[in-house]
Formats: sequence, structure tokens, C-alpha cells
Amino acid sequence: MIIAIDGPAGAGKGTLAARLADHFGFAKLDTGLLYRAVGLKVIQAGISLDDEHAATEIAAGLQASDMTDIAMLRRDETGNAASCVSAFPGVRAQLLAFQRDFANAPPDGAKGAVLDGRDIGTVVCPDAAVKLFITASTEVRAERRLNELQNRGLEAIYARVFEDMKARDERDEGREASPTAAASDAYVLDTGNLDAGEVFAKVLEYIDSKT
Ligand code: C5P
Repeated sequence: MIIAIDGPAGAGKGTLAARLADHFGFAKLDTGLLYRAVGLKVIQAGISLDDEHAATEIAAGLQASDMTDIAMLRRDETGNAASCVSAFPGVRAQLLAFQRDFANAPPDGAKGAVLDGRDIGTVVCPDAAVKLFITASTEVRAERRLNELQNRGLEAIYARVFEDMKARDERDEGREASPTAAASDAYVLDTGNLDAGEVFAKVLEYIDSKT
């Protein structure tokens, strides 16, 4: 069984994916990390974020060891770089097979997989049994992100976080190659007034009603 979770940054996809994977004993893939790893390598190599050819080569050569520096991968600069390189069809094509293989043959003999990203239900796993689109207003998501940064002891101001998030959403939603979008058969959930436990409960109820 495949559970596809899509939606914009900061909507709560990651927390939900972890809870669902834990609950069902499924393997979990945060597909954003793949794009972040490509973005980070492009920055570290001093290559322009406009260079599709170089970014595609980096995506083609991506290794598991490129996904280990979680602190660097999670930085907002890396997220913005990921959002630039993820618009290139060449980069997306290079990362597609890995994501599909993970979904169809999850590691460690798991009976299912939870993948979260932007195009899982629309492009990567269009036949997924369960498709979720998790969203919230930019204001709510920026506020959550600000709290998360401050809790980690990092300095951040709301206006900057909000503008960065808005710009990233616009790039991810406006690009031609696999834009952020809800599949026509996705369960769309606005998490604006819900905490993580409530989101999980609502989604479980939906999955139960489907299966
Ligand atoms: O989810 P996360 O914020 O880690 O993703 C970083 C960036 O990677 C997104 O802003 C988006 O541009 C890209 N991404 C994507 N397709 C996915 C997952 C992430 O284009 N399936």
C-alpha cells in the first residue's frame, strides 16, 4: 500500500508522514530531502542555480551519503536552492526512478510506503491507494516555521520567513514540471485550525473509510 502526501512547505506533511509510517509499520521517504541534497551540492560546488545541465548531472550522481547532513539539508537556504533546481525537468527525471522503486519495493520488507512531497499523488505514484493534500494559509505556515526556527535557537523575523515561504510556494506551484498540486482524487485537508494529533486522527478516519 502506498500513501502519497503532497502540499506546500510547513503544512505538516512531515509530521503526518512520520505518524502514519509508525502506525502502519510502513517505510517513509521524505522526497524533499532528495531535492535539497541536489540544491546543497549545487551551492557547495559554487555552481549557478540556473544551470540545469550541471544540476541534472549532480542529481544523476546523488548518493546516500549526500543525505546525511540533516542540519545543512534542513536550512532555509537549502530549501530555496532545492526549489530552484526542482523546477528543472532533467533533475526531476533523475530522481523519479528512486522514488518509484522505494514506493513499489519499500526497504526492510515493509508492507507499504509513505512518501511526502509535491507531486507524489500526481506524478510519482498516480496509482497510490491513499492520496492526501495537506495545506494551510501562508500566514499559518510562516508562523509555524518561525516558532520552529526560534525553538532551535535561531534568529528569525516573521516578515522574512513569510516572504521566503511565499516565493518558494509560487515557484513550486508555478513551474511547468510537476508543480505542487492536489491530485483530483486526493483528500484535501487544511491544517490551519488543527494540531498534529487532530490531523492524524482525521486522516486515519479517512483511510479507514477508504480501505
Ligand atoms: O518538502 P521540502 O520543503 O523539504 O522540499 C524542498 C523543495 O524541494 C520544495 O520547495 C520543492 O521545490 C522541492 N520538491 C519537489 N518535489 C517533491 C519534493 C520537494 O519539487 N516531491
